[in-house]
Amino acid sequence: MDAILVVNAGSSSLKLQMFEAGRAGTPRRLLEGRIEGVGTAPRLHAVGADGAILVDRTLSPETVPDLPAALHVAETFLRGLSGVTLAAVGHRVVHGGPAYDRPLVVTPAVLADLERLVPLAPLHQPHNLAPIRTLLQRRPDLSQVACFDTAFHRGRDPLADRFAIPQTLHDEGVRRYGFHGLSYEYIAGRLPEVAPDVARGRVIVAHLGSGASLCALSAGRSVETTMGFTGLDGLPMGTRPGRLDPGVLLHLMTAKGMDAVAIEHFLYRECGLKGLSGIGNDMRDLEASDDPRAAFAIAFFVYRIGLEAGMLAAALRGLDAVVFTAGIGENSARLRAAVAERLAWLGAVLDPVANAQGHSRISAPDSRVALLVVPTNEELMIARHTAGLVFGSSSISRGTA
Ligand code: AMP
Repeated sequence: MDAILVVNAGSSSLKLQMFEAGRAGTPRRLLEGRIEGVGTAPRLHAVGADGAILVDRTLSPETVPDLPAALHVAETFLRGLSGVTLAAVGHRVVHGGPAYDRPLVVTPAVLADLERLVPLAPLHQPHNLAPIRTLLQRRPDLSQVACFDTAFHRGRDPLADRFAIPQTLHDEGVRRYGFHGLSYEYIAGRLPEVAPDVARGRVIVAHLGSGASLCALSAGRSVETTMGFTGLDGLPMGTRPGRLDPGVLLHLMTAKGMDAVAIEHFLYRECGLKGLSGIGNDMRDLEASDDPRAAFAIAFFVYRIGLEAGMLAAALRGLDAVVFTAGIGENSARLRAAVAERLAWLGAVLDPVANAQGHSRISAPDSRVALLVVPTNEELMIARHTAGLVFGSSSISRGTA
């Protein structure tokens, strides 16, 4: 059986999913795995489609010092699966820059182009590209597809892409790119199936996970989003502050003597729910805590979602639906209820029972704004793009995981 491997490479981890390729009808995920602790305490873990553990093995840091080595371990493990032939690989790539507005098959020339974007996403892009480079060298026969987190937001009104800075900097790439695009694209594709009444309308998708952002969809296309040049802007997140007066950074530099490395660590690791609560970044821990700082952090998160949603509703000039997705959006009825209350002025009325029971439509029948819960699936989106580009068809069908 031919299979498509979906790779999501981070600084110290390689997440993998494998899908059956070339099969008409319902897509089938064959396995999900990850190698964590690359370079420190590597561990390979994978489960099959039925949840059965296929492998759970500790590896030595000498064997897996970096991502290419981790990829090699993954390849060896996958080769050992009987009856499965790797036919193509789809990669999550955080940045497609101003030009790439869709996924594409990676050639050495494309890879060189994507490497030029590293300065725009120095924390993510090098890791995303490392496995692509390794496979291009080792398996030039294998088709690889790059799927960008930024691509779905390209083609917006130039007003939405711009900061109020001189043109030269904009031309050098300092723009509002937006991220979480694969998640939003997946949701936009699901809406005609789960909510045909609003799919062509004005929709805010709330991707609320450890990273969080909102996207304004008009007839299924991104017109505005809360993240900008990097994944730091917009909503507060697990450990990132979201919208922050740039004057705070000047203060950290001048009054606190912090350099770029210290500020980067602060912004990506010490702020958000973790910084606010002093407890941690995990919403489950905060919801379980009776510490008033946890309650404040949650209230702040909800408040900011309400403010940013108001901004996106303004970009859409009205609102027909709000979709909750990702770890918090899909699982926290309490958070959804609090956000719905903040959006009452826009016409949102929650059905508390449907919300508590985790229905896909959680708004009351008389709600002017439909409230929906739609689980996201970025990996399936990558698998679909890969199948479409490599096999010329949507051999992995839309809609189901
Ligand atoms: P993600 O990045 O999409 O995997 O989302 C991770 C976030 O989802 C973390 O803050 C988790 O605490 C949160 N999360 C996952 N399950 C639940 C749940 N049942 N209730 C509240 N938050 C949850």
